[in-house]
Amino acid sequence: MTATLATGLPESEYQALRDSIFDAIWSELDPLETRIEDEERVPYDIVLPVLERIGAFGLLVPREYGGSGLSITQYLPIIAEFAKVQGGLRTIVHVHNSFAHALFEIGNDQQRMDILPGAATGKNSLAFALTEPGHGTGSDLGSMAVRDGGGYVLSGEKWLITNSDIASHFIVFAKTTETEVSAFIVPRDAAGLSIAPLPETMGCKGTEHGRLTFDSVRVPAEALVGAEGQGNEHLERALEISRVFIAASSLGTSERALELSIAHAKDRVTFGKPIGARQGIQRYLAEMATDIYALRGILADAAQKWDAGQRIPAEASMCKLFGLEAVGRVTDRALLIHGGIGYTRTHPIERLYRDARLNWLEEGTPTIQYHVTAGQLLNDYAFADAFGTASRN
Ligand SMILES: Cc1cc2nc3c(=O)[nH]c(=O)nc-3n(C[C@H](O)[C@H](O)[C@H](O)COP(=O)(O)OP(=O)(O)OC[C@H]3O[C@@H](n4cnc5c(N)ncnc54)[C@H](O)[C@@H]3O)c2cc1C
Repeated sequence: MTATLATGLPESEYQALRDSIFDAIWSELDPLETRIEDEERVPYDIVLPVLERIGAFGLLVPREYGGSGLSITQYLPIIAEFAKVQGGLRTIVHVHNSFAHALFEIGNDQQRMDILPGAATGKNSLAFALTEPGHGTGSDLGSMAVRDGGGYVLSGEKWLITNSDIASHFIVFAKTTETEVSAFIVPRDAAGLSIAPLPETMGCKGTEHGRLTFDSVRVPAEALVGAEGQGNEHLERALEISRVFIAASSLGTSERALELSIAHAKDRVTFGKPIGARQGIQRYLAEMATDIYALRGILADAAQKWDAGQRIPAEASMCKLFGLEAVGRVTDRALLIHGGIGYTRTHPIERLYRDARLNWLEEGTPTIQYHVTAGQLLNDYAFADAFGTASRN
């Protein structure tokens, strides 16, 4: 199945959209940080109308379906900015946009028509249901979809599914034979689907990453995405670009940690001098900036390749891997620069440190990224020439 490439918004329109989103992030959403962290709950009654108003739900939905149709190059700075403020807000925006984008890429015309116009406004919201308590991922799934009459009957369990409390539709992966995985779009009100919360998380607090139980959930044949047995292909395609989005989140968190660290290094005086005057602290700052600069570079390259229509499985996994390592190093150093006060909840460094650790897990752990990258290299992926030409469609 092919999809039309998003060409992006004209530059002046893009800049106006980006500026208004950045303004709302800092003037309306950032002030909610303490409340969200204390209550461990995002106040949806405040946050969702803001996100709707600024167009945050339609960023990657093509214009013909009512969205902004940003290119990936245009989207990355926006998701990076969300990663600077309270992390639960970033996960809402990330999952919604990432999987609305995935639906456009892997869904058929009818599925796009049915769901994407609502996704552009925030009326509909897509979540991604892959991870299971009793199994691994990809072809190691316990969920089954059995053909029955004109449709399928789904049974099984998923957990850690972000936006499980607000999603209108789940893209669900289940086995249709012992060896084949297929993808289905399941509405949250499907009979037999129950959704329960899981305990609160270390960081990115305040949103739900719940457990879905499919107890003989009957879906029509139209719920199947693409062809039967295409599930692994779909999930690779969806996760490929989503890994780049996670790396952009690592970038945003890193940039914020560096900004705070520079300010602290200038302000904090010990032995009569700002700590920024000490070589040890300067080294931390320089290392943080170097990680950020490198991450910006690989993200720009990956986005430009994707926008040009190229598949980027190895690049996407390398972005995700380097991003999680970079934000780990950067937040480690930020904590060291801040000293003891950075470990208290009086300072955003403590929250950024916890939020960043979710980047380890989203869209696959480091071992998965090693596996994908090395698998591509060993499979003659055109990487050695630096500008491979593998076509996306
Ligand atoms: C807050 C949060 C939100 C999430 N949101 C979603 C979501 O929206 N949708 C969704 O589907 N999932 C979601 N996840 C799940 C997330 O993608 C997984 O937690 C992550 O991919 C790791 O899988 P796992 O938890 O099953 O760990 P496991 O698979 O149990 O892995 C544990 C460790 O073993 C390693 N390992 C496992 N298998 C292998 C192997 N074959 N070879 C080598 N090493 C291996 C892993 O790399 C890891 O280090 C979310 C998780 C969190 C914490």
